[in-house]
Amino acid sequence: MDFSWTSDQVELRARARKVAEEAVDRYGRANDSWINGFSREFSRELAAHGWIGMTWPVEFGGGGRPPIERLIVAEEMISAGAPLAASWFADRQMGPTLMTYGSPEQVGELLPRILSGETTWCIGMSEPEAGSDLAALKTRAERDGDDFVINGQKIWTSFGEVADYCYLICRTSTEGPPHAGISEIVVPMDTPGIEVRPIKDMTTNRHFCEVFYTDVRVPATNLVGVEGAAFKQTMRQLEHERGGIDRLVSNRALYLTALARADRRDPIVRQEIARLETGYRLGRLLVTREVLGQGPTGFSAATKCFCTEHEWDVAQFVARVLGPEATLWDPLVQGLTYAPGYTIMGGTSNVMRNILGERTLGLPREPSPRT
Ligand SMILES: Cc1cc2nc3c(=O)[nH]c(=O)nc-3n(C[C@H](O)[C@H](O)[C@H](O)COP(=O)(O)OP(=O)(O)OC[C@H]3O[C@@H](n4cnc5c(N)ncnc54)[C@H](O)[C@@H]3O)c2cc1C
Repeated sequence: MDFSWTSDQVELRARARKVAEEAVDRYGRANDSWINGFSREFSRELAAHGWIGMTWPVEFGGGGRPPIERLIVAEEMISAGAPLAASWFADRQMGPTLMTYGSPEQVGELLPRILSGETTWCIGMSEPEAGSDLAALKTRAERDGDDFVINGQKIWTSFGEVADYCYLICRTSTEGPPHAGISEIVVPMDTPGIEVRPIKDMTTNRHFCEVFYTDVRVPATNLVGVEGAAFKQTMRQLEHERGGIDRLVSNRALYLTALARADRRDPIVRQEIARLETGYRLGRLLVTREVLGQGPTGFSAATKCFCTEHEWDVAQFVARVLGPEATLWDPLVQGLTYAPGYTIMGGTSNVMRNILGERTLGLPREPSPRT
């Protein structure tokens, strides 16, 4: 078996690296650049290279390229710290979700503007009382003639302040068990009744927002998929979110900064580097298997768990190598203090382990009674 990259892949990587480095020169280097590096201008540049929707089928306007090519481009972009955030959510999950569940009108209207890098999307999923337990969500969309009228509150909505559209997960019925009655609706963020309150976190980032919906009226045709039966759609969407290279490489730039300064004669430092390099390679194999569609069902939870815990280990290494210096330079402090988020966003590691145990390994949900 040949594990080496093809000459086309090597050439693509070199091209992506050059574009990423030029972007960093122009826009600065962002830590965790797929969520913290925001530039609409760079989104349009990515689109011009064919690097948004590059794996989407050609009939949807995508590039029809193999998933491994997207992995290569994204790895280079995020490792360098190039600002991907304005198009990342839409490229990673809104587009694929709309291709699977959207109406022909939604596909025709929304996908071209994602592919051209014009639109930014946010995801309205979490609520103050519904994070890991998403089925507890209360934001309500009620049918009124040809419209839905939405009331409720979301929290941790990344890019709520700047997004053009929200992919909203809400409740259209309170009948039946909590997982029933959940629907997905596309909400233009300029609709009257939406109030966005940005949250500046301790790392100085402000992508998080609280979003309040008061009598927000959107056409019923904005419903994606089946009314009241979207829980499965949402779980499918989260699969797009969990097994990708962005979960491994977020703080690679920080690692490379620390690596250049690490005392490699110190045996403990050498051990740590060996462990992290091994972890990175293992993570990349897991991600590669995901993007090639070769992982068992639900295994993206394990990939997300392993890769984000690697990112946490990287942050610990950076803090140890740089010591007090890490507190003197803003980008380092920012990168380090952001690290607890890796194993929370997109589903916490505890929840990932539950999914792995129950869905992939088939373990019992409750401990068996002793006999
Ligand atoms: C950087 C970042 C970006 C985010 N962006 C978005 C976004 O754009 N849109 C959006 O909707 N949300 C977003 N989130 C929110 C994220 O999805 C939630 O924080 C996450 O799902 C956890 O929910 P919670 O914060 O309510 O914690 P909780 O669900 O309250 O969990 C608290 C603790 O309890 C544990 N726990 C909970 N349930 C179980 C269980 N069944 N078994 C074992 N342990 C359990 C958890 O592991 C955790 O340790 C973002 C979060 C972060 C950190």
